[in-house]
Amino acid sequence: MALMIQEDCTACDVCVLECPNDAISENDGVLYVIDADNCTECVGAHDEPQCQLVCPAECIVPDPNHQESPEALQEKYDRLHG
Ligand code: SF4
Ligand code: SF4
Repeated sequence: MALMIQEDCTACDVCVLECPNDAISENDGVLYVIDADNCTECVGAHDEPQCQLVCPAECIVPDPNHQESPEALQEKYDRLHG
């Protein structure tokens, strides 16, 4: 399952460099967004979602519209880094 950033994001920029898949970007200067096509929930790189760990606003949550199995997330990671 990809993660998503909720509207209480303060655009602090802390999460961007932590993402192993370059999935996080600035949207409109106010909110940051996660590209679901690139988010593997950090499967393939880390044991836990790194963006969630560092976000001071605790505004990063699972995206119910992008549910994927651990196997699918690993395949996505392999595709992105293949
Ligand atoms: S969970 Fe991992 S892969 Fe997904 S956006 Fe956060 S840091 Fe990037
Ligand atoms: S770390 Fe959290 S508050 Fe900061 S830009 Fe990322 S999602 Fe927004």
